Amino acid sequence: MDKLHKYKLETEIVFSENKDQYNASSVPIYQTATFKQTSSSDMGEYDYTRSGNPTRTQLERHLAKIMKADRVLAVASGMSAMDVIARLLKPGDEVIAGDDLYGGTNRLLTYLATNSGIIVHHVDTTQTSKVVEKLSPKTTLVLLESPTNPLIKICDIPTITKLVKESNPAAIVAVDNTMLSPVGQNPLDFGVDIVYESATKFLSGHHDLMAGVIAVNDKALGSRLFFTVNATGCGLAPFDCWLLLRGIKTLALRYERAQSNAQKIAEYLEGRGFKTRYPGLKSHPQYDLHWSMARGAGAVLSFETGDVEISERIVEGAQLWGISVSFGCVNSLISMPCKMSHASIDPKVRAERALPEDLIRLCVGIEDPEDLIEDLRMSLVQAGALKVDA
Ligand SMILES: *Cc1c(COP(=O)(O)O)cnc(C)c1O
Repeated sequence: MDKLHKYKLETEIVFSENKDQYNASSVPIYQTATFKQTSSSDMGEYDYTRSGNPTRTQLERHLAKIMKADRVLAVASGMSAMDVIARLLKPGDEVIAGDDLYGGTNRLLTYLATNSGIIVHHVDTTQTSKVVEKLSPKTTLVLLESPTNPLIKICDIPTITKLVKESNPAAIVAVDNTMLSPVGQNPLDFGVDIVYESATKFLSGHHDLMAGVIAVNDKALGSRLFFTVNATGCGLAPFDCWLLLRGIKTLALRYERAQSNAQKIAEYLEGRGFKTRYPGLKSHPQYDLHWSMARGAGAVLSFETGDVEISERIVEGAQLWGISVSFGCVNSLISMPCKMSHASIDPKVRAERALPEDLIRLCVGIEDPEDLIEDLRMSLVQAGALKVDA
């Protein structure tokens, strides 16, 4: 507990001191584009939903409390959040980003490098020295993900942040925290400037909406980001704000169950000899670093089979595990990143970044763990990756 939270995080997630004029228990959906003004000169608190809407305000305030941020902005998707952040950049600015970034982030950065004169350095952020090597007075944005997806690489967010600020106080450090959600990790605690997440994942939890959130502590930075939200019209629609508020109520429960399932599955796979990547496994090369920053290991893991065709058969043979991109949903999902979420990355670049073509990603849901393991075991056996009695 700390000064910003009266209660433990699990309680803050479901508790709200918000007062509705009719004492509604669930925040009402203000499904309106415009608000009438009391006079031609007095705009009132709200005038137009692109600029602000009471349902969105409730969501943003609730998230700010959970994420211990001064301000949160709710936008149309995780990529929209990234786009709002990217509009802080000007031609000639340099960005340092990871080499195992989310596919869509990679695509947007490549677009900006091609069309907007922004210079992007992709480095292995697991090695802090590689980030430091690229720092220059032109560095405007350092973009981190930890753990990355699907290679589950960890970077030292506090140390990198400190070194970036020492080298260039004006540079912005932004962390994509989608993989762990505010329950698993809160990078604002380490002094980063911006934390953003795809709320399509854990925060909403049911794969029934798309949303993104941006959290900051610096008021001036918050205003600059809000300018873009208002100027481009990417603020989250009232109905989606309401759905997201509803999803967030069960965030802690869903996250903890999915994470405990993921731990069991990672141990099962590693125990059968598969090279398994999950920060909950002691074999993870950055196990200690991860646990120095995070409260949990998340619910996404990946493993190798040694053969692309065997991997394809495993993915297609599973019954309970839906073949789908994304994660953070109540249902468990299975995918081959090279063919699905990361297909937009050039095969040559994928090879350079050591992304194994046979890699299978598991995004664990909240089902019964024994059912999940049995379904996976059957698929592994059918695909010829495991002996019948293993
Ligand atoms: C899904 C995802 C995004 C993009 O979010 P959308 O809501 O799909 O636009 C960004 N970063 C990470 C790590 C993601 O998993």
